[in-house]
Amino acid sequence: MTRRLLPAIVAVAILAASVVPVAARAPDPMVGGTLWAQDQVVSYEWKKDQVPPAWATGPIDAGAADSNVSRASRSARFLRGANPTSQIAYGEPTGCSAIGIACFSRAGAPTSFKMWFRAQNYAFDWGKLRWCQGLTTIANGCFDIENVALDEFGHVQILNHHGNLTGDTDYLDAVVQEKARAYPAAGWNAHAYGRCDVARLQLEYERIGAAFPFSTCLAITTTTTLTASATTIAAGGSVRFTATLRAANLSVNRALAGDAISARPVLLERRTPGSATWATIATMTPSSTIPGSYATTITPTATYEWRSRFLTPTNEGLIGSASTVIKVTVSR
Ligand SMILES: [Zn+2]
Repeated sequence: MTRRLLPAIVAVAILAASVVPVAARAPDPMVGGTLWAQDQVVSYEWKKDQVPPAWATGPIDAGAADSNVSRASRSARFLRGANPTSQIAYGEPTGCSAIGIACFSRAGAPTSFKMWFRAQNYAFDWGKLRWCQGLTTIANGCFDIENVALDEFGHVQILNHHGNLTGDTDYLDAVVQEKARAYPAAGWNAHAYGRCDVARLQLEYERIGAAFPFSTCLAITTTTTLTASATTIAAGGSVRFTATLRAANLSVNRALAGDAISARPVLLERRTPGSATWATIATMTPSSTIPGSYATTITPTATYEWRSRFLTPTNEGLIGSASTVIKVTVSR
C-alpha cells in the first residue's frame, strides 16, 4: 500500500494570516496582541475535562521545555504547575478552525493563553489524524505532538507562520510553520526554534544578555563610537581610546534598538592625516563592567587620525560599522 504525506495544516485559532513565499530570508511575522513581559513565567494546567492521554502529556510538556531552552531571548517561559493561569485541552471542543490539528489563543496575554490539540483519529477531510506518540509503531504521515506543541507555544509568544522561500528551501529555519511536516519529512520532529523564529523573539523580547549572539536570520545595523582622553598630547604621552558598540537606535531594530553589544572584536584603526588607508593598531579590550564598552591605551609617536571599527561578522546577524574620526595631535 502506498502512503502519501498528509497535507495537513496547523492552523491558528485567530488571525491566521495567509503565508506567501518571500524573496529573502526574514524573521517570522507576528500574530497580534500584547507581548508577555521579558522572561515572564506563564503557568498552565490541563483543562479539567479535556486532559490529554498519558502518551501526550509528556511530549506537550517537552514542547514547553523546548521553547524555554531554545528561545535565545527574553521571551516568556512556559511551565505546567503552580498557580496556572492558562489551559491546554485535548479533544473536542476546540477553538480550532476546520483545518487545524492544533491551535491557540493568546487573547488573554499577558495573563493567560489557551491551547488545543485535536484527538487521535480525529476525522479530517484528508483522513484521520494520527499523533506519532499515540501509535504503537511509528507510521508515515503521523505528526509529532511535541513539534506541534512547540509551534503553538511559538504562536503564544507572538510568532506567526514563517514566510518560506519558493520551494520551501528554508523550511528548517522555522518551527512555526503553516504546514506541519509529518513523519518522516525533514523537520517533522524539530524540537528547537529555528533561527528565524529566534530572530523575531529577539526583535520583540531582546537577547538574554549583551554578549549573547544575534540570530543569523537578522541583519541588525550597529553603531560604533570612539572617544579619546585627549586630542593633543606631548611626545611620549599616552591617550586612552574608549569605544562603544550598540545595535543602531532605529525603530526597525525593534526591542534590540540601542542595546549594548559586548565581547565582540572592536578594532582600533589609524591613518596618517589625509591618507585613505587605515591600519589596524589593536583589538580593543572589552570592559568587564560596562556592557558594549571597549578601551585601549596607546602611546602615539606621531599625529594620526583614529577610528574604531566593527567588521560584519559571518557567524551572527549583525552589520559592521565604524566610528567618526578623531585626530590626536602629538606636539613636539
Ligand atoms: Zn502554527
